[in-house]
Amino acid sequence: MKTKQKSIKNALVLGAGGFIGGHLVKRLKKEGYWVRGVDIKRHEYSKSPADEFIVGDLRDQKFCQKVFDRPYDEVYQLAADMGGAGYIFTGEHDADVMHNSAQINLNALHFGRLAKIKKIFFSSSACIYPEHNQLDPNNPNLEESSAYPAAPDSEYGWEKIFGERMYQAYAKNYGLEVHIARFHNIFGPEGSWNNGKEKSPAAICRKVAQAKDGGSMEMWGDGKQTRSYLYIDECLEGVRRLMSSTFSGPVNIGSEEMVSINKLAEMVMDIAGKSLTIKHVKGPLGVRGRSSDNRLIRKKLGWEPTSKLYDGLSKTYAWIEEQVRLKRKDK
Ligand code: NAD
Repeated sequence: MKTKQKSIKNALVLGAGGFIGGHLVKRLKKEGYWVRGVDIKRHEYSKSPADEFIVGDLRDQKFCQKVFDRPYDEVYQLAADMGGAGYIFTGEHDADVMHNSAQINLNALHFGRLAKIKKIFFSSSACIYPEHNQLDPNNPNLEESSAYPAAPDSEYGWEKIFGERMYQAYAKNYGLEVHIARFHNIFGPEGSWNNGKEKSPAAICRKVAQAKDGGSMEMWGDGKQTRSYLYIDECLEGVRRLMSSTFSGPVNIGSEEMVSINKLAEMVMDIAGKSLTIKHVKGPLGVRGRSSDNRLIRKKLGWEPTSKLYDGLSKTYAWIEEQVRLKRKDK
């Protein structure tokens, strides 16, 4: 008697050596996928469980053509030249950020189409929203439909909105199944924490971990600007649900738990059991207020993130404290 073999789905993760891509590979492997990961570098903080991990530059057409050698069931495009405020908002990397990420997206779509991939996920960002809707720290407007007329506050945001449109154009003209999420400040262990590309939760965890109780830490700006942060596990849950749905987006994947940066620092100090004085200094900041608007995701996917910021921060702080300790030991 013939036994029915369960077919294994295959997935391609671009940006698999990065923070979100690294976690996504782990999740897809747990779900039973065959996974090929691609990145210009290997993951810095953990060994990738990908079935194949190819190191190469996705801006290079020849390399991209090799990567897209089969009609993948699912492609996740997470590769980008990006970082936190210290990278995106200084203006020093604008040309590279736009050029590099746009070229990766152009190649992924072109060679993905030629390879007849079944569907593709694109990671857009909350940074696409107009700056003028994010001036009031207590009342930002980040409803998906508010994206136009476009007026992002960074070139990173402009590249992302161009990316969204390009993915939508491929859906329209070539029938490619596209799913687009706008991520809002994703955080967690195994992400940048000390290389200039770290975002505020990781930077604050590092500063608190490095400081002595009763000492001080620096913070860019007055700390009254607001943000919301989403823990990595819930981000991936949203991505997987979006990819399994018939909804193409763009849709926010973020938390509605909005806090000031001062409050964020207080939470980290509480987790660490340390009391520090905050020294407010000049630095690149971004908009005054930003938080996810989850009405559309609730409606379309019947789901939204629910985990508490404090819980995700506790796990992230534990990991960063360990990194700080290991670095000290090295010296
Ligand atoms: P990350 O920087 O950790 O990961 C991006 C990866 O892309 C890196 O590993 C990098 O080496 C790789 N990459 C860059 N250029 C490449 C190239 N030319 N060829 C091959 N690989 C290349 O960032 P992340 O936080 O994991 O973000 C993943 C995606 O989600 C990005 O597209 C980012 O813009 C988007 N996003 C992230 C957040 C967030 O809060 N982390 C928020 C909004 C959007």
